[in-house]
Amino acid sequence: MNKLLPPETEVSRPFWDACKQGELQLQQCQSCDRLQFYPRAICSHCGGEGLLWRPVSGRGKLASYTIVQRGISRAYEAPYYVVLVDLEEGVRMMSSLVECEPGEAEVGAKVEVLFQDWGEGHVLPVFKLRDE
Ligand SMILES: [Zn+2]
Repeated sequence: MNKLLPPETEVSRPFWDACKQGELQLQQCQSCDRLQFYPRAICSHCGGEGLLWRPVSGRGKLASYTIVQRGISRAYEAPYYVVLVDLEEGVRMMSSLVECEPGEAEVGAKVEVLFQDWGEGHVLPVFKLRDE
C-alpha cells in the first residue's frame, strides 16, 4: 500500500523539482517581496502575478504539532508527528517531523528540513529536530 502523493501541477512543479535536488524553494513576489507557501499562481499578499522561486534556509521552529496515533492507512506507520513549522524566512509550512519519538518535541523547538523519498519519483520536505 502506498502513501498519498501530492498533486504536481504546473504551478507547483518547481517546488517539487527543487525538493528532488535537496533544496527547499519558495515563491517570492516581485511586487511586495514577500514569500509564500504553498505554491500559487499569484501572490497571496498583494495579488501580484510576478513570482520567482528562491531557495530558503530550511531552518525554523515548531509553531504547533499533533501526534497521530492511528495512520490513515497501513502505509502510515503511527505514531507520527504532523507539524506546523515557522521558517526563518517568516513562512509557515505544514509538514512531518521525523527521527523523533512522541514526547521529544515541543513548541518552539528548532528544526531543519530534510527530504524523504515517497516513491514514484516524489520527494517531500519533512523536518527533524536541530541541535544547538
Ligand atoms: Zn505580493
